[in-house]
Amino acid sequence: MEKILFIAHTQSDGTLPNVAREALSAAVDLSKKLPGSSFVAGIIGQEANQAADSIASCGAAGFLSVTGAEFAVSRYATDAAAVEALVRQTGATLVVAPTTSRFSRALPGVVQRVQGRIETHISGMDIVEGSLQIQRWYYRQRMVATLTRAQRPWFLVIDGGVFPAWQGEPGSANAENVAVQLAADTLRTQVIGVQAPSTNTQTIRPEAEVLFVAGAGWTKKQADGQLHLKDAEELILGFLKNCNASLGSSKSLVDQSVEGEAVLPFMSHLNQVGQTGSTPRHPKGLATCCHGEEPHAVGWRFINERRAINTDANCGWAQGKADVLYVADAFQVMAKVNELLAQ
Ligand SMILES: Cc1cc2nc3c(=O)[nH]c(=O)nc-3n(C[C@H](O)[C@H](O)[C@H](O)COP(=O)(O)OP(=O)(O)OC[C@H]3O[C@@H](n4cnc5c(N)ncnc54)[C@H](O)[C@@H]3O)c2cc1C
Repeated sequence: MEKILFIAHTQSDGTLPNVAREALSAAVDLSKKLPGSSFVAGIIGQEANQAADSIASCGAAGFLSVTGAEFAVSRYATDAAAVEALVRQTGATLVVAPTTSRFSRALPGVVQRVQGRIETHISGMDIVEGSLQIQRWYYRQRMVATLTRAQRPWFLVIDGGVFPAWQGEPGSANAENVAVQLAADTLRTQVIGVQAPSTNTQTIRPEAEVLFVAGAGWTKKQADGQLHLKDAEELILGFLKNCNASLGSSKSLVDQSVEGEAVLPFMSHLNQVGQTGSTPRHPKGLATCCHGEEPHAVGWRFINERRAINTDANCGWAQGKADVLYVADAFQVMAKVNELLAQ
C-alpha cells in the first residue's frame, strides 16, 4: 500500500505557486487510483498556514509543515533537511513534488539520504494492473519513455503544464509542524538577493494561451533595404500586450547583440525555444520571421496548434512543422492583427 506525500514550498507572499497546485492534482489523482493508499501534504516556508489552508479540501488525510525564517528562502541545505524530515515523519513511499528550481536543486540530495529513487520532468502517470507507471521524455523531447520502479521512496517531480491546477475550497488544514534539527553549517549559505535578466518587460508567461515566437527576420533588412528595429519592437510588444501572449525567440535572434546589448532589449536567452532552449507548453503558437529549422522547431513539441508567418514559402514551417503557414510579410500582418485586437 502506497503512502503518498505531496510536498510544496511557498512563494515569498506565502501562497503556493501554480505549478504546485498542478502537482497536487497529480497527487490527488494518484491517491484516488491507488486503492488503499494514504495521502498527506507537507508545506515548507516561512509560514505555512495560508498555503495549507488554501488546499485544505484536497482530500489529504493530514497536513504537515516545516516553517521558520530558515525555510523562507531557497537554500539547498535547509530545503533538503526540511524534505528529509517530512519524508521520514510520514514514511512516504511516493513523494509528489512540483518542478521548481528550489526543489530541482534540493530533491536529488534527499533521495540519496533516504536511499530512494527519483524521476524528474514527469509528463504523465498511469496505473496499470495496480502499479504506477510514469511517463517522461528523453533527448530533448525526441523519445518518450514509460517506466516503473520497485524501489521506495520514489520521488516524482511533475513538470508544469501537464496537470490542471488543483481548484477547491479553502478551509482549515490545521497543519502540524515538524521540527527540523539544523546543523550549524546548514545556514552557511546566505541568500542576499535575486539577480534577474535586465529586462523591464515581463515576457515569459508559462500560462499564456498563445506563444508568440520572434525570429531573426525582424532584425534583417526588409524589402525597402532598411532595418526596422523600432517597428519590430512596437509590433512585438503590442501583440504581447493585446494578447497577453508569452514571448519565445529563435536562437539567432537572442544571439544578436551590439556591444553587449541585445538588439531587442526585452529579449534574453531565457526566451529561446528549441534544442538548446526551452520546450514551453501552450495551446497555440505563432512563429514570425523565424525559419523553423529543426533545432528550433523541436522546442515546439508541446505547442498544440502551430502557425507561422514567413515571406519564404519554402521555409522550415512549410515542411510539415506548422498547421498553417501564412506566406506574407510579418510586419504587415502583425500591424493589421494589432489593429484588429485593439478595436
Ligand atoms: C546544436 C544546435 C542547437 C541549436 N539550438 C537552437 C535552439 O535551441 N533554438 C533555436 O531557435 N535555434 C537553435 N539552433 C539554430 C537553428 O538551427 C537556426 O539557426 C535558428 O533557429 C535560426 O533562427 P531564425 O529562424 O530566427 O533565423 P533565420 O534562419 O535567419 O531566419 C529568418 C527568417 O525570417 C524570415 N523573414 C525575414 N523577413 C521577414 C518578414 N518581413 N516577414 C516574414 N518573414 C520574414 C526569412 O524568410 C527567414 O526564414 C541550433 C543549432 C545547432 C547547430
